[in-house]
Amino acid sequence: AAPAVVVIGGGFGGASCARALRRNGLAVTLVEPNATYTACPFSNAVIAGLRPLQRQRFGYDALRAQGIAVVHQAATGVDAAARRVTLTDGSVLAYDRLVLAPGITLRFDALPGYDEAAASVLPHAWQAGAQTELLRSQLDAMEDGGTVVMAIPANPYRCPPGPYERASLIAHFLKTRKPRSKLLVLDAKDVFSKQRLFEAAWASLYPGLLEYVPLSAGGRVTGVDLAARAVVTEFGNHAGAVVNVIPPQRAGEIARIAGAADRSGWCPIDPGSFESRLLPGVHVIGDAAIAGAMPKSAFAANAQARVCADAITALLRGAPVPEPRLLNTCYSLVAPGYGISVAGVYRPAEGVLADIPGAGGTSPLDAPASVREVEAGYAEDWFETITADAFG
Ligand code: FAD
Repeated sequence: AAPAVVVIGGGFGGASCARALRRNGLAVTLVEPNATYTACPFSNAVIAGLRPLQRQRFGYDALRAQGIAVVHQAATGVDAAARRVTLTDGSVLAYDRLVLAPGITLRFDALPGYDEAAASVLPHAWQAGAQTELLRSQLDAMEDGGTVVMAIPANPYRCPPGPYERASLIAHFLKTRKPRSKLLVLDAKDVFSKQRLFEAAWASLYPGLLEYVPLSAGGRVTGVDLAARAVVTEFGNHAGAVVNVIPPQRAGEIARIAGAADRSGWCPIDPGSFESRLLPGVHVIGDAAIAGAMPKSAFAANAQARVCADAITALLRGAPVPEPRLLNTCYSLVAPGYGISVAGVYRPAEGVLADIPGAGGTSPLDAPASVREVEAGYAEDWFETITADAFG
């Protein structure tokens, strides 16, 4: 029989990896509790009323048609010594190699007052689906003249430019639908992805509407006062009609249960094969992994999935693991038809994934509207391509 690979998590990383492993002729089982996956990229456009949530949804029929066994259960345990995974229903899957792609867990212990119950009032919308709809409906219901407050965490977290894209698109929503309103953006850092591009766009598109407060100006949110619908900072509380709290994160819980996460909460890996530094025979890809200079993005998860699949295939066949090059591009919309991007190329160096100097870059700071429009189109095309690669 062909060697068996089990993949835990059917998001961008896991689904892409399962498909690549299957293309390489291996027997693959994908474990994912949900029958439908809801994608985060472009979910900020859903929040701003620019796109239906339905376009974010993908099923697993194409994976089944390819011969992948898709099991709609959650993994509850991993015995790396015996090479076995336990599922919610008590069943057990044996594997020759295991891929962990569980994404993130939101740290509901990190900001006092912000737990799962608080998130049903002050949404995070950092895992797409019901939370996306909640934030969207709160913005819709808000009176013109209200204040929206956003709290952004320190690094590392899923999608480095995502909060700033969200701030931009919420500002667009307010400008066009509730122009007397304000957006207050509180950040736990001073430096962020595509910063000069975002700040230039905010100055020209949303002056007086979007106020950005970095760490050094007191932007770090340290807790939440749910009753007051307020976030707490060192310098005072900020209440909002709508409050979006993006809490700190760590690798998906099963990574901790398996023993693949270190004290940082994330999973150290070998940058050539994505094999865990802590658990032999177990590979970790996507947001859960410590991927050096690579950001936690769907693009990165997909790129890592393919490299990991080829490494596993080589290892199972006793062949040398190819030395990889990985690409990432993150697009952001700052308004409809206004896209910006950052790209990077990465390779293993001194035990981590390192940026290849000069190989990447960002959109030009001074560019005509036509360039921004083309980039917004590239973003759409990228979404079509990556979701087709991951889900068929
Ligand atoms: P996920 O996609 O989260 O998938 C993890 C899967 O594992 C889930 O389906 C989950 O159900 C499953 N799972 C978890 N635990 C278990 C278990 N115990 N057993 C079985 N299954 C389990 N990235 C981009 O590249 N471009 C963008 O424009 C972009 N925009 C974004 C905007 C927002 C607002 C956000 C929040 C993110 C954005 N991202 C973007 C980031 C992107 O969504 C993530 O980086 C990507 O989803 C990571 O893929 P993953 O496979 O690691 O995790």
